[in-house]
Amino acid sequence: MSQPLASNCILWDGPRRADGYGRVHIDGKRPYAHRVAYCRAHSIPLSEIDGLVIRHRCDNPQCVNPDHLETGTHADNIADQVARDRNASRERHGHSKLTEQQVAEIRNADTSVRGRKSELARTYDVSCALITRILQGRIWKPIKAPIKDTSGQISAAGF
Ligand SMILES: [Zn+2]
Repeated sequence: MSQPLASNCILWDGPRRADGYGRVHIDGKRPYAHRVAYCRAHSIPLSEIDGLVIRHRCDNPQCVNPDHLETGTHADNIADQVARDRNASRERHGHSKLTEQQVAEIRNADTSVRGRKSELARTYDVSCALITRILQGRIWKPIKAPIKDTSGQISAAGF
């Protein structure tokens, strides 16, 4: 996170959804625990934050510490998510390997569609630059006669 947090996370220990967010029962409704925590801390009704996203500055969906919560838009939330996914995939794959089959699939993909390349990059967990190179035939030129290593995969290491 960009700014360090002054206090520790307060973890919600009530019922949670599969995504980690806590839920509470209020007046027959089941709002998120962190939204309720935010409203209590600011002495505002839940309806006040209708349409707003309450973001976790600590990145911990289970946290209900009001100091870690701030309002944001859905776009902010999606941007956060994308940044997290990007970091996660970078850690998971120091280098990437694509199978012959995957390279063929990438080549056959209709990349005239806007955003299709980055979608492919996400799907195969490789960089957009690599997808571009594959599409331009700058690597894995003769798809019929690929250089195989022992695992039968073509290594994309070094990109
Ligand atoms: Zn927190």
